[in-house]
Amino acid sequence: MTDHAIEIEGLRKTYEAGGKAPPKEALKGIDLNIPAGAIFGLLGPNGAGKSTLINILAGLVTKTAGRVRIWGFDQDVNPRQSRAAIGVMPQETNMDPFFTPRAALEVQAGLYGVPKQRRRTDEILAMIGLTEQAEAYARNLSGGMKRRLLLGKALVHGPQVLVIDEPTAGVDIELRQMLWTNVRKLNDAGVTIILTTHYLEEAEQMCDEIAIIDRGQVVARDETSALVGRMDTKTLVVLPDGPVPETLSLPEGIAVARRPSGALALSYSRSRLRAGDVLSALAAAGVGVRDLATEEPDLEDVFLSLTGTQAAA
Ligand code: ADP
Ligand code: MG
Repeated sequence: MTDHAIEIEGLRKTYEAGGKAPPKEALKGIDLNIPAGAIFGLLGPNGAGKSTLINILAGLVTKTAGRVRIWGFDQDVNPRQSRAAIGVMPQETNMDPFFTPRAALEVQAGLYGVPKQRRRTDEILAMIGLTEQAEAYARNLSGGMKRRLLLGKALVHGPQVLVIDEPTAGVDIELRQMLWTNVRKLNDAGVTIILTTHYLEEAEQMCDEIAIIDRGQVVARDETSALVGRMDTKTLVVLPDGPVPETLSLPEGIAVARRPSGALALSYSRSRLRAGDVLSALAAAGVGVRDLATEEPDLEDVFLSLTGTQAAA
């Protein structure tokens, strides 16, 4: 057991483009430690470098520079051990159409050198809910079943670290539920989980800690609650008790938005103003308050302020 499941230092990746196109610097010097036992979120807009990063961890893409240690094993010094410590569930579902789930799991176990008597094929089939389809051809499986099989394949060698690339992009609610249940179970059993996603709500619910990547660089990394807590914006939502003048003159530092419900959303910096200041300003502008609620910032605000990119809802 190490403190860090993953240690990354100065990681760079430049894709050499063909022809006259300029090379693409996908990772520009990433330093990142991921604690053992965490459910860790790797967030960022499309093109940020998330897949490049995890494909390097998985040994599927070669890095241009830097060091990667997986479960304490340096990728370049102990390639076999570092590869054995990690399993990756990729985003795409390419698979041999004539393989059955059982055969796919057995072949994968063979690739990782898991001896026959130590294979857990039936256990994994049950976990991913494919016991009944164990002998069906992959081409007859639904999209959701194929995704589940990819999860199973990532687990055949019992890795300490499981990486899931965009697990719920374009999947149905049932599959999402199955994934989250399994992710929690695996994590309870001691597996470190790394999720990449651009769905913030998901990250906020699932992940203990988060790194936000933008244009090949880590722009934030903290516990999920601390990241959100760092945001200075606070919003008071006020239901006025009468008509509100067309133009409201409020002091500088208070931004007003009108909600379709008729409520006014008043945003302010909580390090500069207090709720009482905002309410006094409202009273001075002649607006009475029928009802009142506060809204805390969420990960969406953090993401937007750091990357300037709207995330997927
Ligand atoms: P993400 O997974 O965050 O969407 P990627 O790691 O897939 O980001 O891509 C990061 C950047 O690297 C993008 O600009 C992408 O176009 C580029 N890129 C990814 N794979 C390749 C490749 N095989 N060849 C050239 N450029 C690539
Ligand atoms: Mg990707």
